[in-house]
Amino acid sequence: MCQQGICNEEILKEMIYEKEYECPLCKTKFKQKAVKSSKNKLLDIDFDLNARYEKVNPLYYEVVVCEVCGFAQLNKRSEMPTLAEASLLKEKIAANFLGRKYSTYYTAQEAIDRYKLALLNAIVRNATEGEKAYIALKLAWVYREIGDSEEEKRFLGEALKSFLNAYQREGFPIFELQEEVVAYLIAALSYQLENYKQAIKWIQMVLKNPNTSPKLKDRCFSLKAMVSEKEKELKQLEEQNKL
Ligand SMILES: [Zn+2]
Repeated sequence: MCQQGICNEEILKEMIYEKEYECPLCKTKFKQKAVKSSKNKLLDIDFDLNARYEKVNPLYYEVVVCEVCGFAQLNKRSEMPTLAEASLLKEKIAANFLGRKYSTYYTAQEAIDRYKLALLNAIVRNATEGEKAYIALKLAWVYREIGDSEEEKRFLGEALKSFLNAYQREGFPIFELQEEVVAYLIAALSYQLENYKQAIKWIQMVLKNPNTSPKLKDRCFSLKAMVSEKEKELKQLEEQNKL
């Protein structure tokens, strides 16, 4: 098991492969790293769907970054920037970018830097709220791994805000996330940000959705129990304060 992305180099060598990539902005050719998912055993899934693996945290390798010009996006995103987007990225990012040199295998801090670059690129090219939410959520999960709960909450908050906007205005799926899964994430993030009323409202929406799988329903019931527990604690605290 790797702690905070620091693994035995032999394991990393076996688990990571490289693909050729050409930067759509500056045309630099470089090798993009990716994790061989078939060799990475799933250990557990957090209640907000953050998956934990035995050998390598694939979150660290989900952003493609051009170290020359600062172009960055999720490797799941296959669209290339339009002419208008490319000109915004060149003007607002590439023109001031000082370059980066990442380690052969990324550390948590480097993964954080890569997600932040992807988020900045997404903001500059006016990406969808869904895309920004997805990046912010993954960034929060990397902060969780290194135990920085303040930054984790900050980006969970960003993800929640953008998922709420996306749910109202944009289509599904958001990358691989279907509508009921996004609604569940809104409930889970609301819980983490202590907005219990909002959490319950979205849990009910997920339970009413005919596409919700039995597994996701089970997650809803567990989350509902967690919310009830918190509400009970709050009530007890209130009563103590009255005394
Ligand atoms: Zn580039």
